Amino acid sequence: MGFNKPYLTGNEQVYIQEAISGLHLSGNGQFTKKCQTFFENRYGFKKCFLTTSCTDALEMAAILAEIVPGDEVIMPSFTFVSTANAFVLRGAKIVFCDSRSDHPGMDESLIESLVTPRTKAIVPVHYAGVACDMDVIMAVANKYNLLVIEDAAQAIDSFYTGEDGVKRPLGSIGHMAAFSFHETKNIISGEGGMLVVNDERFIERAEIIWEKGTNRAAFFRGDIDKYGWIDVGSSFLPSEIIAAFLWAQLVALDKIQARRKVIWNTYYDGLAELQDLGIRLPKIPDFATNNAHMFYLIMPSLEERSLLIYKMRQTDIHLVFHYQSLHNSPFYLSQGKEISLRKSEEYSDSLVRLPFYYELDIIRVLEGILN
Ligand SMILES: *Cc1c(COP(=O)(O)O)cnc(C)c1O
Repeated sequence: MGFNKPYLTGNEQVYIQEAISGLHLSGNGQFTKKCQTFFENRYGFKKCFLTTSCTDALEMAAILAEIVPGDEVIMPSFTFVSTANAFVLRGAKIVFCDSRSDHPGMDESLIESLVTPRTKAIVPVHYAGVACDMDVIMAVANKYNLLVIEDAAQAIDSFYTGEDGVKRPLGSIGHMAAFSFHETKNIISGEGGMLVVNDERFIERAEIIWEKGTNRAAFFRGDIDKYGWIDVGSSFLPSEIIAAFLWAQLVALDKIQARRKVIWNTYYDGLAELQDLGIRLPKIPDFATNNAHMFYLIMPSLEERSLLIYKMRQTDIHLVFHYQSLHNSPFYLSQGKEISLRKSEEYSDSLVRLPFYYELDIIRVLEGILN
């Protein structure tokens, strides 16, 4: 039994066929617009741009943030390489923040101590789709005039409730946010992503960067009578075939989420007794919701984690650990000085993810772990 298995709603081919029949196969067509409008209406995201990956969306955000060599960007070390790479590509210096003790997300209380006159942005990662404490992050950002770019790759349909009691979708709080539709996420299109722009100041330029540095989108809207090269940019938009696939998934979003939540809760209830053995289950802070992106255990040690992965392999059930802290990566060590982030290192050594997908035979996994 694999760790992940992409779920197909059955309508992917229907919509892809529709895109093919319509003969608009490049980007920014009918399905792209449908997907973007879906997100804008459902979650109140100011403006959405489908991209070919979350990595691309983060790279767009780094360009829009006007990151220049020497600028500093604060982010957790316990994250995927793309969170950092997008800013490194623009010459940024990455300043890594340690994780919380109760959750692998970044420890918000440490962020202010990492701010310097060169700091330009904070990139919170909503690990496992569970919100960072955005009130704290936005307060630091406002105080020092920093941009907040949410890495919401795993955070579709998840929410944060701040001091004011308002429940806000993740991706709607920062100046910008990036989502992923990679086949390992809740809603998929193979490879795929989306940039959300909530701050109006960036919308016009985002559209140009998205369209290879041209004002092509405005031209096709009829706003201008010819288009040309007016800024930097790249080919960030996916084809309509990808967008058609994604549309089928979005139509089934509530059904997919409902099923994933059943799986998550079954894991949680079924494995609660492991806590007596010093094994920790995921903790969802009061300000966050759970979008059932992932189920993980935090083992007492690296050895016990290796043993569990090995034991489960014998019954053909694949458990996988997660991020190796970026501050200990060969690339970072070749660039900067050695630092120690104890919590992040602990999660790198002790966190293990359980198989999680729509059609999972969860009873088999539970029996395997509890035996
Ligand atoms: C999956 C993921 C990404 C990258 O997404 P792609 O769509 O594969 O580029 C970035 N950040 C986090 C936190 C992720 O989980």
